[in-house]
Amino acid sequence: MENPLTPEVLADPVELTRVLVDIESVSRNEKAIADCVEQVLRGVPHLTTYRHGNTVMARTDLGRASRVVLAGHLDTVPLNNNFPSTTRGDLMYGCGTSDMKSGVAHALHLAVTLPEPKYDVTYFFYEAEEIESKYNGLTLVAEAHPEWLTADFALLLEPTHGIVEAGCQGTMRSVVTTTGVRAHSARSWHGVNAIHAAAEVLNRLGGYEARRVTIDGCDYREGMNAVRITGGVAGNVVPDHCEVEVNYRFAPDRTPAEAEAHLREVFAGFEVRVTDAAPGAAPGLDAPPAKEFLAAVDAPPIGKLGWTDVARFAAMGIPALNFGPGDPNLAHHPNEHVEISKIRAGAETLHRWLTLP
Ligand SMILES: [Zn+2]
Repeated sequence: MENPLTPEVLADPVELTRVLVDIESVSRNEKAIADCVEQVLRGVPHLTTYRHGNTVMARTDLGRASRVVLAGHLDTVPLNNNFPSTTRGDLMYGCGTSDMKSGVAHALHLAVTLPEPKYDVTYFFYEAEEIESKYNGLTLVAEAHPEWLTADFALLLEPTHGIVEAGCQGTMRSVVTTTGVRAHSARSWHGVNAIHAAAEVLNRLGGYEARRVTIDGCDYREGMNAVRITGGVAGNVVPDHCEVEVNYRFAPDRTPAEAEAHLREVFAGFEVRVTDAAPGAAPGLDAPPAKEFLAAVDAPPIGKLGWTDVARFAAMGIPALNFGPGDPNLAHHPNEHVEISKIRAGAETLHRWLTLP
């Protein structure tokens, strides 16, 4: 296959976004796009290029005082009658336009066109972000070649509509169980109804006042919600068992252990089992490259509410921010699109950040 990532395409972030969108790369099918990206990067004299699976990275080695990572995932969610791309006025439509080939285009454009950035830069293009984490290219490289990811700061080019989204909230899944005693429903006074006992669990959730936390000027809004309830034996049996699944989204000033302690406090008197937890990430605004990046963006940062791979960087000790041209509300949407003007503005911001003295 002839590589569609020609020098003319690489020189223009908008054209580059379009061409990247038009290389289909639904998760687990990233080989073609990774091949194209790898071939481009290997041809750039100021970069050293590595590949692991369908994750490709390239780095400058200029001996700068700081190193930053510019990261983007190459995969998309499944197509939904939105392939290939189409353009109407300022809007480019198609699978991955927002999440996140416009962000990948930023990094790839800079990798090729900026031989002497003010920091050493690691450009990181990874596979399988949209599916289970065992396939995630960032996770796989962190295990196999952690030294590839050594850096002082990471910028994840996920869709944020051109503003800086800092850190991310943690998430915890748990099951609160109530128990009772089975009986025939015709003589229910012989039993204890576990579903009725769950009313108190729901009452506590209904009356729960979630915290709002401000960290480094970024607001995080917690939430604790019942997301599933199961119980019942048969139409004529008083049930002896009921489970309420509770999802707790917690601000990054709490560790998963602290979040669990709080959860147990809320459901004191009930059996609580934590089934899954992922830590949040602090805003990460203190690293010097982060401060200089914020100065290059006109708008103040806001807190990221969803969970993103910035938490994976934070777990490696690398402060990270989200910044991308796409609208996060359109990610995974059949009508997914990106504003061409936002691609141009984002590319200018990144260029300014990496070149200002
Ligand atoms: Zn994404």
